[in-house]
Amino acid sequence: MRVPFHKNRGKRRREGDLTRRVLEDPDAAADAESGERLTGKGQLTRHRTVVGSEQDEALIRETGDRETETGRVLSAVGANHCRVQTADGLVIECTIRRVVRTLAREARNAVVAGDIVHFSRVDEHSGVIESVDPRKTTLSRGSRQKAHIIVANVDQAVIVASAAMPDLKLPLIDRFLCSTETGGIQGIVCINKCDLVPRERLQPIIGQYALIGYPVVLTNALTGEGIPELRRLLQGHETVFTGQSGVGKTSLLNAVQPGLGRAVGEVSSDTTKGRHTTRVAELMKLDGAGWVVDTPGVRQLQLWDVAREEVEGVFVEFRPYTARCRFPDCRHTHERGCGIKNAVTRGMISPLRYASYVRIVTGDDD
Ligand code: GDP
Repeated sequence: MRVPFHKNRGKRRREGDLTRRVLEDPDAAADAESGERLTGKGQLTRHRTVVGSEQDEALIRETGDRETETGRVLSAVGANHCRVQTADGLVIECTIRRVVRTLAREARNAVVAGDIVHFSRVDEHSGVIESVDPRKTTLSRGSRQKAHIIVANVDQAVIVASAAMPDLKLPLIDRFLCSTETGGIQGIVCINKCDLVPRERLQPIIGQYALIGYPVVLTNALTGEGIPELRRLLQGHETVFTGQSGVGKTSLLNAVQPGLGRAVGEVSSDTTKGRHTTRVAELMKLDGAGWVVDTPGVRQLQLWDVAREEVEGVFVEFRPYTARCRFPDCRHTHERGCGIKNAVTRGMISPLRYASYVRIVTGDDD
């Protein structure tokens, strides 16, 4: 495809007061050359040719044979800067070639943590990203139109909640599970701080998630309880850690592998929301095999919004019953003859999960 050069690619117009500037400042003459327009080609005729797939915004390759190396994006900072790890373990600071950003539907999603990228070297420590491979999975925040991709190419997500401090919020876990289902990522529920609540109170919750196919692990990041099991679940996988801030993500990562989590913050009070230290998603290598990705707490990001129409589809245990609703557009909230509500009454669907569903679709779960 042919894409226009961005406006600021054009050379600056000749400046009208050039003579005066040169007289006043002899050094200005040295810069004058780059300010001259030599051809009459207007901005609109300036195009470049790129090859790529129109379906996949990530598959972008500019023509021209720059020599590139392949790497993995560890973190993306802002729209134009990221840290890339090469195959031999070096970390290169990269900027992103404009055409890659121009062709991405959303500039901020052009390159995200977890992407496999091809970059050309500027020097030993820096480079320019020339193309991005298609993403196998994505975990996004925001609705489909305005999705902000947090991380790409991970295969599972540990959704961390705490038994208390902050309180266990099932609709929040379910909302995260909606995001992982939408992104094609296996969800794992981790309930941390299990020392703060009697085990019997947590049992029904473990049961409800295990029944619908989500592994559940109970942990205490301070004593190490449940950590071997969590470590086992992570081995050989690429796992994103997500959850509200203050639930113990950083402490858990440090328990899994010393140094993996960054500075452990105090549970922030309402007046110090910004204290949490994890700002951007960041990939970290696990000893043995696998990667983990720490993500910013939801405090900063608000809830991971899933479009209302998508919610029903990602409550996996609802699927066998939706066909039994009397109304094809049933929202399973107030309608009569609803297959989902009947399944709840008959004990086939957990009432807690159903309550979460209702709170999510009615927007009452914040
Ligand atoms: P993050 O914001 O999710 O990364 O949470 P942090 O790892 O910063 O932990 C927040 C607070 O919870 C810290 O004061 C931790 O010491 C504490 N904490 C973490 N895990 C546990 C746990 O299993 N039990 C208890 N009682 N406190 C914990």
